[in-house]
Amino acid sequence: MDDIERGACGVRENRGGEYFTLVHSRPCTVHLDPIEKKPFFHVLPGTEALSLATPGCNLECRFCQNWEIAQARPEQVRSIPLAPADVVAAARRHKAPAIACTYTEPVVWSEYVYDIAAESKKAGIRTVMVSNGYIEAEPLADLCKVLGAVKIDLKAYTDGFYKNQCRGELKPVLETLRRLRKHGMWTEIVVLVIPTLNDGEQEARALARFVRDDLGRDVPVHFTRFHPSYRLMNLPATPVATLERAVQAAQAEGLRFVYVGNVPGHPSENTWCPGCRTMIVRRIGLSVLENRITRGRCSYCSLEIPGIWA
Ligand SMILES: [Zn+2]
Repeated sequence: MDDIERGACGVRENRGGEYFTLVHSRPCTVHLDPIEKKPFFHVLPGTEALSLATPGCNLECRFCQNWEIAQARPEQVRSIPLAPADVVAAARRHKAPAIACTYTEPVVWSEYVYDIAAESKKAGIRTVMVSNGYIEAEPLADLCKVLGAVKIDLKAYTDGFYKNQCRGELKPVLETLRRLRKHGMWTEIVVLVIPTLNDGEQEARALARFVRDDLGRDVPVHFTRFHPSYRLMNLPATPVATLERAVQAAQAEGLRFVYVGNVPGHPSENTWCPGCRTMIVRRIGLSVLENRITRGRCSYCSLEIPGIWA
């Protein structure tokens, strides 16, 4: 049959002019992770998220950390039959207040994401999505009706990086971020800083200005450390000083919650109150050691801290 063709993601098949998903209710991995691992720092700190993925991605990042499943086709990995109701039941069983669609690209399994999120919402469990933001307006609008929060990997702030390192484009991702804001979706941004490719101070500044002007200065931005992986084994890990420079640049542009990631014990893992400058959430790595946010406010000065706290 000539008409059976798959999209670049490898998980959708054209059968006589109609597209079918091959991965609904068939995750290849399910784990219980701290929500800090996603990372979300302003969503239910210190709790666990039942985290799952099916194979598939719509980008081809040369630094992908999960390429064994993200770049695999469904028949190349083992999957577990798990209907949306089963996912919610598992989250309940583990007392996880959140379900995270993560590891690969949830956009390519968005029907499954939607069904999980709709089911979990009824049960009072939040489904969150960790995505590259490469999604059209309409499916995004649908997802926003049921999701609890979204983390977007903003891979760089140049089109060249997207083109050469990811086989993608920057513009659709920025558009998704603007749409998330319009939908009122709680969003955090992660930038994996890779030596020589997207580590310039000017780039961090430009990115921060975009966040400030188009999304708002309360959107948390995490600058995380790269470790050599997949097709970028030739590059070194990101120097901590480079991450610190990015954090300072973003703060100088007015962002209020800027974090360093993948450097356990770094002071910029903590949340500092923008009002009284006190540390209000103390973290080391993926652990929350102290949380001084009470009913969404700083316990010291009562300033409202943006995020989802309960
Ligand atoms: Zn305060």
